[in-house]
Amino acid sequence: KLYEMASFDPLTKLYNRRFLENSLVNEVKRARRFERPLSVMMIDIDHFKKFNDLYGHQVGDEVLKHVADQIKENIRKDIDIAARYGGEELVVIMPETNSIGATILAERIRSIIEKNNLARDLFEITVSIGIATFPAHEASGSKLIELADRALYQSKETGRNRVTVI
Ligand code: GH3
Ligand code: MG
Ligand code: MG
Repeated sequence: KLYEMASFDPLTKLYNRRFLENSLVNEVKRARRFERPLSVMMIDIDHFKKFNDLYGHQVGDEVLKHVADQIKENIRKDIDIAARYGGEELVVIMPETNSIGATILAERIRSIIEKNNLARDLFEITVSIGIATFPAHEASGSKLIELADRALYQSKETGRNRVTVI
């Protein structure tokens, strides 16, 4: 129970930020030591504020849970690590994955979320995604997060509902 509380986000049932940051340190060490690729993606729900403003925070929470579930179902179980990084920012660590593999997965997640809207015609849910990869970027875990965030920002700037690799 204590382990669960220390590791998971109660709303989305994804790992929490602390778990993510610890895992990332280990995964970067491993990737560097064995000269393996490692990718990080940051996902942010587009115009999430409007769900809260139009339908209330409980619906906002449902949307967030729904997006988290789609991510969980589409990553490699027991290998990829999906976590809630901030409010509606989610991060996936992808060991053994280069930028091509990460882009394929991100694009799949993006399109599945776009297609699988919650209450079909009520509203559209889309996400923007940014990707950073080791060793293309010689980086620490926190630097990879920062780069993924920068790529995400580019996805927002260029129109949302898209994937950007930095
Ligand atoms: P953008 O497309 O630029 O990402 O627009 P946005 O509205 O998603 O971006 P912004 O970062 O301005 O808004 C994020 C909102 O997420 C603000 C905050 O109220 C809401 N939020 C954060 N955490 C939660 C949560 O756990 N539940 C709910 N319901 N809302 C949350
Ligand atoms: Mg957002
Ligand atoms: Mg945000």
